[in-house]
Amino acid sequence: MTDACIFCKIIAGDIPATKIYEDNDVIVFNDIKPMAKTHFLIVPKEHIESLKSCEDAHQALLGKMLLLAPKLAAEQGLKGFKTLINTGREGGQEVFHIHVHVFGGGEPNS
Ligand code: 5GP
Ligand code: ZN
Repeated sequence: MTDACIFCKIIAGDIPATKIYEDNDVIVFNDIKPMAKTHFLIVPKEHIESLKSCEDAHQALLGKMLLLAPKLAAEQGLKGFKTLINTGREGGQEVFHIHVHVFGGGEPNS
């Protein structure tokens, strides 16, 4: 938990989010500014800044996050989807708590 981190606040329940999955390691919620009809974020409960900060000890957690993508996409009715991990400011990362974006179902307003 990092006080300044918006995703840690969501994990702590201090700010609301539309959760679609949660277990001991991971929380998944809809993106507040969806870039597709379905757009959710797979977020570890451990505060890890980015893919650059991951270590060998995070291998199982990263695998778990990726394996959740097809399961949750199917639950959301998606037959296919895109995944994205932005890494570092130059990689387009805005929230420095690692997350996997999952997009599907076309443009948000189409
Ligand atoms: P990044 O650019 O770091 O890969 O993506 C951060 C994502 O988090 C963005 O798509 C942004 O819309 C989303 N986001 C930022 N703040 C919040 C929030 O308070 N709640 C939710 N649900 N999503 C957020
Ligand atoms: Zn955090």
